[in-house]
Order: sequence, then C-alpha cells, then structure tokens
Amino acid sequence: MKTPIPFYLDKILNSVRDEDGGEVADYIPQLAEANPDQLGVALCSVTGHLYSAGDAENRFTIQSISKPFIYALALQELGLNEVCEVVGLEPSGQAFNELSLANDHRPVNPMINAGAIVVNQLINGVDSSVEDRVERIRSYVSKLAGREVDVDKRLCDSELENAERNLSIAHMLRSYGIIQDDAHDAVLSYVSQCALSIDVRDLAVMSATLANGGRQPVTGEKILDADVCRLTLAVMSSCGMYDGAGRWMAEVGIPAKSGVAGGLIGTLPGQLGVATLSPRLDEQGNSVRGTAIFQELSSDMGLHLMSTDNRFGVHPVRSVDEDDETAIIRLQGHINFTATEAILHELEERQFSEKRLALDFSQVSGLHQVGRRMLKEGLRRLKEEGNEVALVDDNGLVTDRAMSDGTVLPLADKEDYVIAGEEV
Ligand code: GLU
Repeated sequence: MKTPIPFYLDKILNSVRDEDGGEVADYIPQLAEANPDQLGVALCSVTGHLYSAGDAENRFTIQSISKPFIYALALQELGLNEVCEVVGLEPSGQAFNELSLANDHRPVNPMINAGAIVVNQLINGVDSSVEDRVERIRSYVSKLAGREVDVDKRLCDSELENAERNLSIAHMLRSYGIIQDDAHDAVLSYVSQCALSIDVRDLAVMSATLANGGRQPVTGEKILDADVCRLTLAVMSSCGMYDGAGRWMAEVGIPAKSGVAGGLIGTLPGQLGVATLSPRLDEQGNSVRGTAIFQELSSDMGLHLMSTDNRFGVHPVRSVDEDDETAIIRLQGHINFTATEAILHELEERQFSEKRLALDFSQVSGLHQVGRRMLKEGLRRLKEEGNEVALVDDNGLVTDRAMSDGTVLPLADKEDYVIAGEEV
C-alpha cells in the first residue's frame, strides 16, 4: 500500500491552484523574477516521515522564515534573559520593516526586521566578523535542514542594492547602542541570513525540529533544547505573521512564519511541521495561496492549536499480529491526523499482500473525520492490492463505511481474526 498522504497534499494544492491574487515582492529586484505560479507543500511528522507535493524541490530564499530559527539559536547560545535585554516579546501589530522600537529602544519582538537584525548580531558573540557569524548561521541551518545549505549570493547582493529601509533600522539601533556593528555590516549579516537557499522539504523538516523539542526528526540530531523550542513557538504564534498575526491565530491556529520569497511554515508542537511555497503575497507580505493551504489544512485535518480535539498521548497502533493468511491491526487512543499518519505509515511499511486484514477500533477513544477518511482510503488501497479488508468497530466509531470505490467496508468480529498463539 502507498500512503495516501502525498495524494491528499496534491489535492489541497489543486484546490488553491487557480487563486491568482496578490503580487510577487519586487522591492528586492531579484525576487521580482521569481515564477509566480510555483506551488509546493511539504509536511514532516515528529517521527521523521516527510511528504510533499507540487514544486517541492524548487529552491527559494528563506527570508523572514529564518527569524524564528535564528532567534532559537540566540536563545540556545545566550538564554532568554540575555536575549530579552535587547529584544522584547510583544506583538507589534506593525509591518515587517517598520522603524519601530519600544520606549526603552529595544525592538518589540524578534520577528520584525528591527528585532531580527538585533538577534542576528547576538550570534557567535558581539566580536564576531560578519563572515564567521554568517558561517555559524549557515552551518546551524544546514543541521536543521539535514543537508548543506548555501547563501544565494546574487539574491543577497540584489537585496543589498536596495536596503535603505534595513540600513535605516540598523542606524537607529546603533544610535541607541542596541547593536555594536556598523549599520552596513549588520545589514550584510542579516541579509545573508535571509538569502539562505532552501526548498519546502527543508523547511518542513526544520519546522518539525521545533515541533519535536529540538531533535531533528530525520537525522535524529539534538540541535536545540525543548525550552528554546517552546519559547520560539510562543513568539511565532503571537508575532509570526506581522500585522496579520491575530487573524491568523484565530483562523488557522498554527504557529507560523512567512517570508517575502513566498515561503510559509507552520509548526504544530509535538506533532508536525508544514511548509508551503507560492510567491504571490497579500498586503501584509504573507503568501496568498500559502495562507489558503494552511486554512484548508487546519480545518480539514483538525490542526488548530486551540481545538479541543487535540488529544493524543499513546501510540495509535497498539499491536499488529499476523500469520500467513490473517492480520489484525489494533488501534488505540484518539485518532487525529498525526495518529492517522502513523497508522498509514505502519500499514505501508508492512507491505501486506493477499491477507485477511482487519483494523480493530475497540480501544479507540475518538476518531477525527480526517482519520476516518484517510484510513478508509488506506484500506481501499490495501484491498486493491489483493487483501481482504474489514473493520472491527463494535462501538460504531466509523460512522460512514462507504469507500471511494463504491463498496462498503464490511464489519467483522474480533474472534475471526485471532492469530494462533497470541493473547488478545
Ligand atoms: N530580507 C527581507 C527584508 O528584510 C525579509 C523580509 C521578509 O521576508 O518578510 O526585507
């Protein structure tokens, strides 16, 4: 069986493909040349399973999506108190490039440019050269992505040609003694950070690293402390979407960060990371179709952080028993999207063929509609591959057993699936 998750992602892309609202950012000349029709999505679970659809390998610059990750690095190197001496934690409700400082002259948060320029200056110590600082950042982002990433020099030069706004922010910060480097060096270092070249698959894994308490879920490397990830996600949730942050949290409910190259990430703590690419932006500088994808994912997959449906804690596959003819997969707990993903992954790995196979819902405490839909699709695929599939569902959790091939999933008795020698 092939897990239906990539097909599901493809379907979501198709549902937003015709939306052509918004404009590609052109204040950085090189960005204006991006193909506006690019559309990609990737999703990575905290267990390290990565799925993608569309233009998932198209490279683009990370831009402001670097901000939460570099903030996390500063927290990791220096701790919250020291970082808070130079940048606050409050949402600004202002545009990303606003010349905005709090009354004590600190930038209000690390997700707007003023705050991000300050945070960049903390990396590798105040005496670091620009070159060493950028290299420290590049190698850290490479660990997060699980591959060596590079700075896109052309994009970086292009942004530097038109960096008056960021230069004026840096001059302002230096005049108040918040940064020590001269304005040009500070902007060069910050813009290099923004010009790291990545794709949505990299971003999904990076985002899942935050969701996973700082352990990169694919390489297994521990990069950040769990406390640092929690703080970073908290700041993303209140400040990540600029002046659209409040509306985003209400409608989508996933801590997120956007970038002017059209990237967007969302991180669901303890569950998964998602990333999208679509370069046309709305007035707040957030990707129009990226936002639409997240709205759809949130409502359709039950991913809103404030949803009272967010219950999990046990592994959804309680046990799998099989012999040459029969297989029974016992599920447990609350089957939300993340649990569904884990079940489908298990079914894919086992490569069942020509089996009498049942999914047992006896120990399941709740079933989200996304779980019902996708597990049915998984069973349909197993059936297509020659297995005989059924449900053990005495509590009637699977309210609609019709499958997309027009047949109805049969119900079975647990007793008919006893494997010799096992204890039920
Ligand atoms: N490098 C961009 C800037 O500072 C990043 C802005 C963004 O992605 O929102 O203008």
